[in-house]
Amino acid sequence: MSNLKIDIIPCLSDNYSYVLSIGKDALVIDPSEALPIIKFLEKNNLKLKYILNTHHHFDHVGGNLELKNKYSALIAGNEKDKERIPGIDILLNESEKFYFNNSEFEIINVPGHTSECIAYYIKSENVVFTGDAIFSLGCGRLFEGSPNDMWNSICKIKSLPDNTLIYCGHEYTASNAKFVQSINDNDQIKLKIIKIKELREKNIPTVPTTIAEEKELNIFFQANQKNIKSLLSDNNISDEEAFTIIRSAKDTF
Ligand code: ZN
Ligand code: FE
Repeated sequence: MSNLKIDIIPCLSDNYSYVLSIGKDALVIDPSEALPIIKFLEKNNLKLKYILNTHHHFDHVGGNLELKNKYSALIAGNEKDKERIPGIDILLNESEKFYFNNSEFEIINVPGHTSECIAYYIKSENVVFTGDAIFSLGCGRLFEGSPNDMWNSICKIKSLPDNTLIYCGHEYTASNAKFVQSINDNDQIKLKIIKIKELREKNIPTVPTTIAEEKELNIFFQANQKNIKSLLSDNNISDEEAFTIIRSAKDTF
């Protein structure tokens, strides 16, 4: 049994930062801002050792420097993003491992939202942190990558075990669900929308989700399915073409 604890820290308007702790040692993934993280660490008497970033956007690195200075924490991120991640110390590359005490984090490149997005996969814990590459019922907007890049990134995440928990960068699930419903209305998505509403009314996060649930409901994960292709155009289009249609429909939804 593991002793790694994961806490969700809501930041800004709809971001999630994550504090992972083992005993009194902690790390934070994507601190959007410093204050909510500092409050949590102080309340729980934790010592911040590391800051891990999934990509360079301000709403994911906004707290980097203040937290680094306050706790002498080390900042880790994609080596190829070293010019854009404030205060970076530890340079990571695809398939490399990052160790936090005994926990092994594997780096998975997931370009598309930005060219250098990475995900952190902790196999022993069955969890993956996807930043803005993958959301519950959605995927990130393509600011720097092509639809092909993002489809490949989704396929990598999809290949993780079904029971893997996905912790993503934003609470976008409600609007993503409405988009799914606009293309593929069915009982499952109707039920999911009710569940999301119940959670959000109590201000409970809809994350984490799981690989199994995303395969079942996330239309971006389903771009290779014949039934989805026929909803979009006809079922002879390629997976990449189907994904491209879905992504551009979402951009204007
Ligand atoms: Zn972003
Ligand atoms: Fe973001």
